[in-house]
Amino acid sequence: MSDKPRKGLDRRDLLKASIATVGAAAALAANAGSVNAQASTTSSAGQASGASQATVYTGDVIQGTKVVSALDVNDLEPGKKHLLYFQGVEMPTGQHWYVSVIVAKGAKPGKRGVLTSGVHGDEMSSIHTVQAVMNQLDPAQMSGTVMAVTDVARPAMESMQRRWPNQGRGIDLIDMNREWPGNENGLTATSRHAGLLFNRLLRPNADFAIDFHTGTTGFEVSAFNIAEMDVPEIKAMVELYPVGQIFDNPTYPSVLHNAFIAVGIPSFCPEIGAARHLDIEMISLFVEGTMNVLRHHGIVAGPMGRTGKDVNVFIGNSAFPILATQGGIVEHLVKLNDKVEPGQKLAIQRNSFGEVVAEYTSGVAGEITGQRSDAMSEPGNPLVFILFHKVAPEGVESYPE
Ligand SMILES: [Zn+2]
Repeated sequence: MSDKPRKGLDRRDLLKASIATVGAAAALAANAGSVNAQASTTSSAGQASGASQATVYTGDVIQGTKVVSALDVNDLEPGKKHLLYFQGVEMPTGQHWYVSVIVAKGAKPGKRGVLTSGVHGDEMSSIHTVQAVMNQLDPAQMSGTVMAVTDVARPAMESMQRRWPNQGRGIDLIDMNREWPGNENGLTATSRHAGLLFNRLLRPNADFAIDFHTGTTGFEVSAFNIAEMDVPEIKAMVELYPVGQIFDNPTYPSVLHNAFIAVGIPSFCPEIGAARHLDIEMISLFVEGTMNVLRHHGIVAGPMGRTGKDVNVFIGNSAFPILATQGGIVEHLVKLNDKVEPGQKLAIQRNSFGEVVAEYTSGVAGEITGQRSDAMSEPGNPLVFILFHKVAPEGVESYPE
């Protein structure tokens, strides 16, 4: 699901971050020996400066696949596809969460692109999109490298749920797309996993990066890209997608694509329909756009496919939320991508007697970009997001997701 911004939530995240810093300092003091050992590993790997680091093979082979704990794609044989496991954080049993890495290493040198999916565990179309792109690549014909990681939040994916089940204080669920760039010495396994991946796998191998998502369980979205269109390198890539909507907004600082941007790597976030299933038709649009991006960077040759010019792209910088005010069953009166006007009725809600208890209308002119797909709703659930162009002054609280 997209990361619709909310200024209140940003403040809460910042508060959480400051609390975490205090907690981390206490943990460092209590366990100085082992933490220092980790810290020296971290700095010797060189990722604090973003410098490249040599590939480290752990010596393990899992189901025939070699395991790495650090990767520099320059170390891999050119003109071939390589399958690896990257060693992530440990589970409570002491075994590791491994993530699946596919590297298409071109015969000739060139730019390095990184494609990620599975940061949320229920977003299946994002994974299929990345796999479809990788399956189209012929390394013998490529100039440059494409690396894909398809299952970033493994424990979330194993149960096909959005969030990572964490063992901190009893079971807890952590949204991994509020954890980037992570912290190898962080207070949760999720934060450490993010830190390991970002420092030793993703950042060192990326000249540009695309983090694929979908809607979330119970809430589906249209096909769109989240992108900061005022960054020329990002705009140039996003315009190559033949998809109908662009959400031109910085969203949250702690999402993966923003962690890339923060270290100077152009990045954006495609959103590919509903969670839990494969939307093959919508996936094909994002595969076509991603192949265009690889052509744009000179990694693959050949003519461009359809781009944003071939569809009537609607660009909005804000998402207007409609929140349920009652409990009950919601009936939508509009569809994804429909254009709506202020005052237009978008949904009605009935109680268990079948009586209409609420009617929901749009406050803006825009296009429907997200709808609650679970029919039951409690008060406070987002029912609809409307993509629109905001002209109101900055600082207005307008994203109560
Ligand atoms: Zn997501």
